[in-house]
Amino acid sequence: EQRNPHETEFLQAVKEIVGSLVPVIARHPEYMNSGILERLLEPEKVITFRVPWVDDQGKVHVNRGFRVQFNSALGPYKGGLRFHPTVNESIVKFLGFEQIFKNSLTGQQIGGGKGGSDFDPKGKSDMEIMRFCQSFMTELYQHIGPETDVPAGDVGVNAREIGYLFGQYKKMCGAFEAGVLTGKGLGYGGSLARTEATGYGLVYFVQEMLKDNGLDFKGKTVIVSGSGNVSIYAMEKAAEFGAKVVACSDSDGYIYDQNGINLDTVKELKETGDERISAYTEKHPSAEYFEDCTQIFSIPCDIALPCATQNEINAETAQTMLDNGVKAIGEGANMPSTNEAQDMFLENHILFAPAKAANAGGVAVSALEMAQNSGKISWAFEKVDARLQEIMKDIYQNSMQAASDYGTPGNLVAGSNIAGFIKVADAMTEQGII
Ligand code: NDP
Repeated sequence: EQRNPHETEFLQAVKEIVGSLVPVIARHPEYMNSGILERLLEPEKVITFRVPWVDDQGKVHVNRGFRVQFNSALGPYKGGLRFHPTVNESIVKFLGFEQIFKNSLTGQQIGGGKGGSDFDPKGKSDMEIMRFCQSFMTELYQHIGPETDVPAGDVGVNAREIGYLFGQYKKMCGAFEAGVLTGKGLGYGGSLARTEATGYGLVYFVQEMLKDNGLDFKGKTVIVSGSGNVSIYAMEKAAEFGAKVVACSDSDGYIYDQNGINLDTVKELKETGDERISAYTEKHPSAEYFEDCTQIFSIPCDIALPCATQNEINAETAQTMLDNGVKAIGEGANMPSTNEAQDMFLENHILFAPAKAANAGGVAVSALEMAQNSGKISWAFEKVDARLQEIMKDIYQNSMQAASDYGTPGNLVAGSNIAGFIKVADAMTEQGII
């Protein structure tokens, strides 16, 4: 706190993890002696840079670019790039820090990193996005590479942005190195099922958790916040498993459709078009639109899948959800519940799948994309999807195991933090004090 007094999101993420590690450190004092925690909390490298670009009217803009290379004990830094006006060093550090443990949980050889910019892609033309991405990569290219740091997409960075970023990387390096970015288009090294991976993976994980408790998605009422990449594919898989998804949102408001959300309409609005979720009611007049996206969880549901942004569920929202009888929560977004909200769910014995474990499917498939790139091959959708299901099951089981090994059976927050940490801590110990 003394070292990073203004980094509230980063401190929030650190507090949650360090709290879970108390029994681990007590059992393994050697971690303390080799300064594992002190080293883990300090990123290996933080790169901040100016990103100047010119809009369609010829006006010059300057944004700030970031890449936090947090920890490379398990492999090259890996983690997405976020383009959103709220991006700052604290946000990038919290995301990068979480990414270390998440990547460790996937069982793949990937370290933790994250990056982005306070650039707002909303309302920008294609050419403006391209010029921004080119300027961003003109600085970033020297810090990344298939064996050093492999960025991917996140909020505001999808296949279009990854394409422009990859084009500029290739130009700056003079080499076609497919493995430098993941989330690429299928024609130049992208992986099938990467688009679906985070949302599908979330539902696979929650399904494991439900199954273990004698429940499943069938016939359940589900709410998914957001309507972006993670949300859309979480809704798709939940509906495929027999759930009725009744609400989703964007940053302006939310829709409630008691008949079940029509996903084709949401895809048409959000994937093909660049429209607001409010337009849904034009096609489905029986659905209702409400302003204030934060109220989406006031609708009663059995299973809540927050997939929009950090801290969207605070203590007050958590209380409403508890009062409404929510049975399970699966975090698709990163850190969507405040620490207070999370504690309330755990104290009330609600089935709770934390982001670090439950949304790891995206990065897991990114690692599979890297493997395909290095072998210069492409796998079928079914093969990637099958690997994703296995990985999500393993993460669930390893997290449950760690939770019971360290005296908190059933607590997936503690279990995922502990299981993720031990692998990184052991690798750091073996690699010496660097
Ligand atoms: P997208 O940019 O595709 O979608 C984000 C969605 O959330 C949009 O619908 C956006 O609405 C909405 N949103 C943003 N802020 C708010 C808010 N305050 N309240 C309600 N809705 C909001 O991003 P992703 O789907 O890729 O990412 C969503 C979350 O999942 C993030 O936390 C991200 O870090 C996490 N994640 C993503 C992974 C991936 O593979 N993409 C992997 C692991 C985690 P609007 O259009 O109005 O901005």
